Amino acid sequence: MTTTLLWFRRDLRLSDNPALRAALKDANHLIPLYIHAPDEEAPWQPGGASHWWLHHSLGALDESLRKRGSKLLIAQGDSLAILKRITEQAKVNRICWNRLPEPANQRRDQNLRETLTRLGIEVEEHEANRLIEGAPLMTGGGTPYRVFTPFWKAMQTHGFPQDRPTGAPKILPSPPGKIATSSLDSLKLLPNIGWDQGFYEAWKPGEAGAQRRFKQFLQKAIEDYPEWRDRPDLLGTSRLSPHLHFGEIGPRQLLQGIAAHRDEVSGRRGRGSDGTEWLRQLAWREFAAYLLEHFPDTDQAPYDSRFRDFPWRDRAQAQEQLERWQKGQTGIPIVDAGMRELWHTGWMHNRVRMIVASLLTKNLGLHWLEGARWFWDTLVDADLANNGMGWQWCAGCGADAAPYFRIFNPLRQGERFDPHGEYIRYWVPEIAGLPDRKLNTPWETEKKLLSGAGIRLGKDYPMPIVDLAATRKSALERWERIR
Ligand code: FAD
Repeated sequence: MTTTLLWFRRDLRLSDNPALRAALKDANHLIPLYIHAPDEEAPWQPGGASHWWLHHSLGALDESLRKRGSKLLIAQGDSLAILKRITEQAKVNRICWNRLPEPANQRRDQNLRETLTRLGIEVEEHEANRLIEGAPLMTGGGTPYRVFTPFWKAMQTHGFPQDRPTGAPKILPSPPGKIATSSLDSLKLLPNIGWDQGFYEAWKPGEAGAQRRFKQFLQKAIEDYPEWRDRPDLLGTSRLSPHLHFGEIGPRQLLQGIAAHRDEVSGRRGRGSDGTEWLRQLAWREFAAYLLEHFPDTDQAPYDSRFRDFPWRDRAQAQEQLERWQKGQTGIPIVDAGMRELWHTGWMHNRVRMIVASLLTKNLGLHWLEGARWFWDTLVDADLANNGMGWQWCAGCGADAAPYFRIFNPLRQGERFDPHGEYIRYWVPEIAGLPDRKLNTPWETEKKLLSGAGIRLGKDYPMPIVDLAATRKSALERWERIR
């Protein structure tokens, strides 16, 4: 009689799940288990928006398991103690899980692996969430890549997984009886105050939601991705990031989708992108996880060591500005649109993430971690590797980052990437009546136009939080001090 335990973490799917496949081998009983142990991820315990997603994703997973004759067992507390207890109780022979890239998770898993193996339990670790599985990609000099383009080339040379993704099993062995389980509600993942209303309109967490989102992207946007991907006013990107973060869809499934799309469009006249540009974007995700594994202290420390002594402004001096940035009340429309989109939906378009991050780190001069922590709490796709890389890239201290002195002008960015002002008008309706040419600069607008649009600047919509030209100059002076 073989009993296996499948420890679900951020691989919340039944199709093409390598640990599930392994756990099913010769199993008479299968225990699908989720352990809620946020403190084991300290100092990056998942934030409020991630918890919202997790609640619904676990619910969807449980439903899928029940349809197949099983169910999700839920426990709360110390992972090792729980695994040991269940293993003894149910006489588990094998535990399977999929790897996670975060340093705290990796340390925890290594301890668990060693202890459980000593106790005579077979532990199997698999890869469910990466394009390149466990590949030691290194430069010719044997060091980790720090620059994206050569990393991307190395990925392509190495090649991507070729085997077809497996479907979800139709039926699953039931878990043995009498294992204590907590209810999903007892984890208290949902907020007490209803700030999450907009999330329900924007998302459908879970494997089925991920599949649907991917299908829509393949049908409607992948061909125009190179032209649309920088436009926050269009549905030009996949919005798969939270699904990918929680492992509701896997890389092999994405590759298969892209390949099927290529077959479909090959030979068709006037076809658009074949998906290569999108695949390249997925490689950025791969690069982020790779960097975090090779440089585990960069969740808080800068990749570029020159920035260790960078004269960031003291938060205490900029508290009010920080709060206005968080609330989308900076008076700079494209920034406010992004920050409100984030608060309302738990997601923000990549181009706008760059714009708001540049304002925070360069014009406001605040440490990138201030922004990273806010994103961490409010993004449904909050991902330690991607978030850290994104913030460090924008702050100028990251691997392969934008040079510090390249400071985004949010006004030009708004004009260029939201050319008809639809994104700004949607999220900042107070100024929707302004003509396109003034939408990014309400404070430079003639009084007559403002009153015609029903705007009292400073009352209906704030004056800008900073003088963009002057703060740009100060940012460059700060840079001169460490250069
Ligand atoms: P698509 O354009 O459809 O891309 C497909 C997938 O590729 C994404 O879902 C994502 O997994 C990956 N990807 C795309 N762009 C990037 C990128 N620049 N870096 C890494 N992976 C990428 N992404 C997160 O998933 N979680 C974060 O916490 C996060 N924080 C960020 C913070 C800042 C300051 C910045 C500038 C970027 C951050 N990103 C983060 C990267 C990027 O903004 C999002 O991945 C992207 O906006 C998700 O939208 P999408 O799924 O429609 O992307």
